[in-house]
Amino acid sequence: MRTKFVAGNWKMNTTKASAIELAKAVAKGAPASGVNVGIAPPFVYLDAVGQAIAGSAVWLGAQDCYFEKNGAFTGEISIEMLKDLSVRFCLTGHSERRHVIKEPGELVAKKADAVYAGGLVLVHCVGEKIEERDANKTFDVVRAQLDELQPSKMQDASRVVIAYEPVWAIGTGRNATDAQAQEVHHFIRETIAKKWNADFAAAVRIQYGGSMKPENAKGLMDQADVDGGLIGGASLKADSFLAIAKAGS
Ligand code: PEP
Repeated sequence: MRTKFVAGNWKMNTTKASAIELAKAVAKGAPASGVNVGIAPPFVYLDAVGQAIAGSAVWLGAQDCYFEKNGAFTGEISIEMLKDLSVRFCLTGHSERRHVIKEPGELVAKKADAVYAGGLVLVHCVGEKIEERDANKTFDVVRAQLDELQPSKMQDASRVVIAYEPVWAIGTGRNATDAQAQEVHHFIRETIAKKWNADFAAAVRIQYGGSMKPENAKGLMDQADVDGGLIGGASLKADSFLAIAKAGS
């Protein structure tokens, strides 16, 4: 069966000191088994956070990356650099990168390719805006974002994670209902079965993200196709993040 994966996306938050403090508290309280737990601090604190969680079961993650290996790409961070800091997973296509920073799908696709080819766990984020949901375009949007991934290049299902994050639920306090999440997660798994095959689809993990908190985590993660969570706001407090991690264990 699929081990649930609960990951915290700290976004552009914390100071170095508060990042270390939060990381230590997560490492101390994270369930040792039954669930994979990860945290993705800002790039500049990856090294310090990595040291703070060393020896624990918690995975270190990055919020983004660049697809080239090295060279004249001012401000960018390569997969090799992330691996040098023991980063284990990397997000691609987070809605803030797609819609705030205006990262095009072609760039997201190149990054996803590089994350997987570099040996990291890929957490590829997909999700529709409210106007797209209202126009019954949710499945079309999600399908197009899944098409950024190339099955022929990605064969190890344990290193491919999809995060379904409806944009209207991110940071708004308005989560998808259990049924709304399950409906889209099921669609994602069916789409993956068509793109890859049934075995790959059965093994791939699909996280839910969007205002997940201790009060709604269990209901969402109890859904048949919800295999964990990608947590923003609630990952910035050890207590709430650990409560969600425990709900997934
Ligand atoms: C996110 O940014 O991935 C996220 C899910 O944020 P929040 O939990 O704050 O909605």
